Amino acid sequence: MEPVYIDLHIHTSKNPDQLDTAYDVATLHEKVRACAMGSPYLIPLTDHNIINKVAYLHAASLFPHLLIGAESHVRNYRDEPPYHCHIFFRSPVDADTIDALNVVLDALYPRKRVCASDQIPSIEEIAKHFDAYEFVHPGTRPWPDLRCRLKRHLKNVRLTFNAIRYIFNS
Ligand SMILES: [Zn+2]
Repeated sequence: MEPVYIDLHIHTSKNPDQLDTAYDVATLHEKVRACAMGSPYLIPLTDHNIINKVAYLHAASLFPHLLIGAESHVRNYRDEPPYHCHIFFRSPVDADTIDALNVVLDALYPRKRVCASDQIPSIEEIAKHFDAYEFVHPGTRPWPDLRCRLKRHLKNVRLTFNAIRYIFNS
């Protein structure tokens, strides 16, 4: 069995409302390759509620395996705090696809750097908006104590890995 180096949480921009179009994708590629130590490697670029098109198109020319995705804010209940959940699409990394996905993300998140008082969509709303796409969004409700949170995190990781296996095997 061949190991694969995966990092599913990479931000290109400190402020997702002002994406860094000069993000250093070449250095990222060097570092990921070094971490992979000769194994295949797979990454997405997961900015908050938006896809950095310039960075992705640059990354597409360097990374043989690139997942298209973002880190989304989710709030399932009005009186509960929002949480973060990655979303990954089984879509090609090209300009038209990224533009189309960003249109949906703009509708869901007019402001990318959300605060507690912002309207933040639920898992169901997000799923409805991306109905035309094949995607994984392994979010669950946050749990109050740390042990449960860890369990949820591990469940998310497992779901994400199953999804990645699905994306790459078919
Ligand atoms: Zn993050």
